[in-house]
Amino acid sequence: MADKDELQTCVRCKYVAVKEDKYCIRCGAPLKNRCTKEKSLMHKGCYKVNKADAKFCADCGTETTFNQLGLI
Ligand SMILES: [Zn+2]
Ligand SMILES: [Zn+2]
Repeated sequence: MADKDELQTCVRCKYVAVKEDKYCIRCGAPLKNRCTKEKSLMHKGCYKVNKADAKFCADCGTETTFNQLGLI
């Protein structure tokens, strides 16, 4: 049995993937709940990886990927 920290569960289909995977191989949903604040002239962008149940970024309050895609 692998260490729990090396696994992640897809929020959409509950497929259990390894930590290195960025997208679910079963349904294509992203596995990392990233901040959607993008690089602009005024800001270098955030891209923080938030907890799976975070609707907004813990660092800057911008929507997360999961929230934007309606996964949570
Ligand atoms: Zn999935
Ligand atoms: Zn952020």
